[in-house]
Amino acid sequence: MFVAIRENGEYISLVEKWERSDLLELRNHETFHCPACQSKVQLKAGLKKTHHFAHVKGAECTIKTEPESEYHLEGKRQLYHWLQAQGYDVKLEPFLPEISQRPDLLVTTQTKRFAIEYQCSQIDYPLFKKRSDSYRNEGIMPIWILGAKWFKRMSAYAVRLSPFQWLFATSFNQPIQPSILYYCPDTSTFVKLSNLQPFTTGEAFCSIHFYKEKVMSFSSLLAPTNLEYAFQHLWGRKKQKWRLSYSMYPSNHLATFLTALYQNRIPPAHLPAEAGLPVPSGYWFHTPSMIWQMWILLDLLLLLRKGDTFFFSKVMEVISKRIATKDIMVRQLPLVFHTRYSLAVEEYLQVLVATGKLKKLTKTKYEKIGAFEIPTNLDEAYKMDNILLASVGKHEEDGLVQHNIGRDLSSDFIQKT
Ligand SMILES: [Zn+2]
Repeated sequence: MFVAIRENGEYISLVEKWERSDLLELRNHETFHCPACQSKVQLKAGLKKTHHFAHVKGAECTIKTEPESEYHLEGKRQLYHWLQAQGYDVKLEPFLPEISQRPDLLVTTQTKRFAIEYQCSQIDYPLFKKRSDSYRNEGIMPIWILGAKWFKRMSAYAVRLSPFQWLFATSFNQPIQPSILYYCPDTSTFVKLSNLQPFTTGEAFCSIHFYKEKVMSFSSLLAPTNLEYAFQHLWGRKKQKWRLSYSMYPSNHLATFLTALYQNRIPPAHLPAEAGLPVPSGYWFHTPSMIWQMWILLDLLLLLRKGDTFFFSKVMEVISKRIATKDIMVRQLPLVFHTRYSLAVEEYLQVLVATGKLKKLTKTKYEKIGAFEIPTNLDEAYKMDNILLASVGKHEEDGLVQHNIGRDLSSDFIQKT
């Protein structure tokens, strides 16, 4: 950390560059204390590393426990100067006694307060959620920025995302698609991922933007990015490979799924094209879209005849049961508000309506009007995938598939998980 309390009770900050000799002089005459937990901290004034304070080994801070690397300190320093240069009222490592937290940076504007956490080491979901919630309870908006060493690009439009990185997906208190932010102090660059479309549990398609710190403002960084639909053909190719490979090394949680396919005489690679369609809020599911959508088909839509009707609540019931048995897993997204996973389910039904499989009779009632064909061989499966994905892409361009972000009709049906 950069800030400590001196013996006279004043704060001392090392975020501005100090002469090493001055610091060594200070260190010889004074002791320093942590503003948060009051315990003694050491002034680290080495030759190479960023000057900083650190808790004594074995007496770690009770407020913040993760170690601060050189990378983290340098990133925090740059973010501090970046905000200061834009004229923001920004405090470095302020201790907030009401919630016993010490954000890396606190920005206060006329109407809002933002706690900026620049996170380089892994922390677990409960701690992440606890910190975020206590900021929000104080009316402070948490902005979590990941150290860019976590950024793992796979191709022009694809990244690897672990459950830890998904925690950072933020809708910034607006009813918009979430984004993930990274910052790299080595290149002074922000990376922003938006239009997140997870393909499997660990891989996602997304738009990737790089912004040099010098030309990016705090408000534009938080502004929504336009939706893009560049992924359809990539999705199709990926799905082809997935069909062949997913059942080769099945994990335990796939056992029930493969058994259900077997009982329905569907070879694992021959899922109907309607299983595995991209939907705007699909990020809510940790389980790949091929699988959660196939469960809807297996547990409900394949069992219905043409002309049968059903309510949206029935689909949510099917999903809830599969969530209870862990056949479907929902993502932990503590910073995405306004929507829940039911929106992804609703969007999926809308795609089925747009592609002529279902008809929407009322706000909550649907009729099955088309068949869900099981491909007889792989070539046929690929063809069906491509035709359906092209048609989904076309409907999205035409605006026929409404993205009702923020209008989560289905929230009445959600069971608390
Ligand atoms: Zn402390």
